[in-house]
Amino acid sequence: MHAMKSGTSALGPPVLPPAERERLDELYTRLSSLKPGNIGYPCNQNFDYSELFRFLEFSANNVGDPFNATNYRLNTQDFEREVLADFARYTRAPENEWWGYVNNGGTEGNMYGLYVARELYPDGICYFSEDTHYSVAKILRLQHTRNIMLKSQPNGELDYDDLHETLRIHRDVPPIIFANIGTTMKGAVDDLAKIRAVLDDLAIPNYYIHADAALSGMILPFVDAPQAWDFADGADSIAISGHKFLGSPLPCGVALARKKNVDRIARSIEYVGALDTTIAGSRNAFTPLMLWYRLRVLGDAGLRKLVQDCLDTAEYAVQKLNAAGIASWRNANSVTVVFPRPPTAIMQKWIIAPKKDIGHLITMPHVTKECIDAFVSDFTAALAGKPLT
Ligand SMILES: *Cc1c(COP(=O)(O)O)cnc(C)c1O
Repeated sequence: MHAMKSGTSALGPPVLPPAERERLDELYTRLSSLKPGNIGYPCNQNFDYSELFRFLEFSANNVGDPFNATNYRLNTQDFEREVLADFARYTRAPENEWWGYVNNGGTEGNMYGLYVARELYPDGICYFSEDTHYSVAKILRLQHTRNIMLKSQPNGELDYDDLHETLRIHRDVPPIIFANIGTTMKGAVDDLAKIRAVLDDLAIPNYYIHADAALSGMILPFVDAPQAWDFADGADSIAISGHKFLGSPLPCGVALARKKNVDRIARSIEYVGALDTTIAGSRNAFTPLMLWYRLRVLGDAGLRKLVQDCLDTAEYAVQKLNAAGIASWRNANSVTVVFPRPPTAIMQKWIIAPKKDIGHLITMPHVTKECIDAFVSDFTAALAGKPLT
């Protein structure tokens, strides 16, 4: 068949010109070659969603509130609700007193929590540590929320003394505490019990706590001794990424909040016949299906095993690096292994994200002990000034 011009064919549907098809093949090769060495970012590469590919035939859309029927009936909101119920269980949300939705990732979940907080306390001040994810300063700027950055401890955890001291000065303004449940660089958890002790000590009655559990929100529900981080421990909203620990080819996440707070911001929109409780209008119908599939394939027992394996690999990496003379450590219940900033060649080959004088690797399910061995041997070689293979 002779293409008439780019993108069209003489008969039938448009076809991709051969040269462009070659570019897709090159892209596939490039992504495939990068996949195994991706140890520096918290994105699980181990998943198989091929059973769901047929659902890409549909222009499905989960517009609006997942708990209210919408006019647009090509949706997966029944599956979305099941996903949310699982996450509510993992985060010990109060029964029938929670609300949530599947969104585009941790950032949107954080925005949601801070939005609810700001609607509750329009004059509130948001407190967050210097180890907080970079997106948070942007969100606070976007919604014009007053905010104060607090000091962190060397392990990346919030400095509770600085929190106490700073809150004491602003006791008349309701605090919105942005807690890191697994910081991006060091995997540190800001302990909600310690935060609430500070609030109690200062006799502050009105406050809001948002938990940014992008990565660790899928880890802490499955360990024996989690730090205080969830609804039962005092969180008012929680954000968790779906593409991080669970793994997904499309960014996604979950936002959960106390229902009574969400009810205050809900508005009904006639055009879509939906309750406008979400930040995005049109919403992905495919990512809730993927999350549902992952949760059903793994089950709670499978998740617990996956988490334990990842923690074991993280401990293996700490031991192995230290044995090679590279000072490394990790926080409790964390799969983030911290070490001195590696030479540039190492960061490029292993896709390592540096910050100032440190680097880290994250033992997601696709990161094997063999992978750690190869990394440590490269790291040692580079420090000795030898070229990488
Ligand atoms: C990754 C991350 C985010 C942002 O999540 P996205 O899903 O990338 O939007 C927020 N907070 C922390 C602690 C993170 O690690």
